Amino acid sequence: MDIKGSVALITGAGNGIGQAVAKHLSAKGAKLALVDRAEAEARRVAEEIKASGGQAIAIGADVTSEEDTARFIAETLKAYNQLNMAIACAGVIRDGLMLSPDKATGKIGKKLGLDKWKQVIDVNLTGTFLTLRDAAEAMANGGWKGLLVTISSVNKVGQVGQLNYSSTKVACALMPKIMVGEFHMRGIKNIRAVGIAPGYTATPMLTGMNQDALAGILKDVPLGRLVEPTEIASLIEHCATNEAINATTLEITGGLCYPGAIAK
Ligand code: NAP
Repeated sequence: MDIKGSVALITGAGNGIGQAVAKHLSAKGAKLALVDRAEAEARRVAEEIKASGGQAIAIGADVTSEEDTARFIAETLKAYNQLNMAIACAGVIRDGLMLSPDKATGKIGKKLGLDKWKQVIDVNLTGTFLTLRDAAEAMANGGWKGLLVTISSVNKVGQVGQLNYSSTKVACALMPKIMVGEFHMRGIKNIRAVGIAPGYTATPMLTGMNQDALAGILKDVPLGRLVEPTEIASLIEHCATNEAINATTLEITGGLCYPGAIAK
């Protein structure tokens, strides 16, 4: 796939990894549809891209809503008449242990709340499904070369304190294989799907993490620092241009081989 002249839709594009991917693909000549529930942030990124000579539209939307998903796909097609990449970067963390005993009594004092469970499942899993389902529908009907991208995490192997988050990220790692298998079964030949599984990456999401735990985890990263969002953007560009990469999930972690314990 040629990046130049292609159309990329990115959710979670107002911040972090989504923002970096948007700016990187724009610099390579892609036209962008930037989706975020933080609409002002998506608009800011679109303005910055336009100021650098790129093309971008910003759409305020919640990826957990089927109506919003249909709307942002329709607005993208209206603006560009085409869709080639859909990159589902919108994601949240709501960390907590499933059970926390009370120190004084030894009895369970706190449980992981259903609200924290559902918020993460809704955005990371259902949001990714809706975005990629409707993007794939447009690509299949339009016949354009397409790439679907899920964002997994190195924590797909199971991170304590993240029963909700890790459950969504193992699913996002698996999705490309199933989607491509189904495309192959049904003769849909123009769409590939890949997952990207970043390690600990320098974005606002990490500011929500326990910073002592993060420092501990970095001791296990051979790279010795956080992964930069621009490094993830450059891997996504490679996946777009290298058609042999399909139905798989690639790790980009700075060498981290196992997650550390984040909750004591
Ligand atoms: P980020 O900086 O927090 O950016 C995520 C963006 O998604 C935010 O603008 C957020 O808006 C938006 N968003 C959240 N829920 C949404 C919804 N329902 N509808 C539309 N937009 C929504 O996070 P990031 O670090 O770039 O993470 C991007 C993806 O990479 C996530 O899937 C994350 O799990 C994954 N990842 C990150 C790391 C890391 O270390 N940072 C590592 C592995 C994987 P709000 O600010 O309003 O929530």
